[in-house]
Amino acid sequence: MNYTCSCHCGQLKISFETTLEKVVECNCSHCRKKGYLLTFMPKAQTQMTLPEGAYSTYTFNKHVVQHHFCKTCGCAPFGISKGHDGVTETVAINLRCLDVPLDLSTVNIIAYDGASA
Ligand SMILES: [Zn+2]
Repeated sequence: MNYTCSCHCGQLKISFETTLEKVVECNCSHCRKKGYLLTFMPKAQTQMTLPEGAYSTYTFNKHVVQHHFCKTCGCAPFGISKGHDGVTETVAINLRCLDVPLDLSTVNIIAYDGASA
């Protein structure tokens, strides 16, 4: 199915196709505070709108993930990092920012122990 995620004011957007087979809830200090539900895919499989000047970027720990968030509304619909191969740009999409709300009873949420990773 095709999905779109965006920040609350609509400046940051991403559209993508997925089966939503894998929805991850991570317990690391950052994901926990932001309440993320994530799915991952190569950036090349998405269409992204990330206007220069509209966003800020937060990094922490090993600084491998660029956590983008909207300067106006504060929402963080996605982050970008290198994939497991160290080359492919990978997007972590925050399913809490889906434009059509996700029915949580229809997805299998996988707990990831990022706090211990
Ligand atoms: Zn916004």
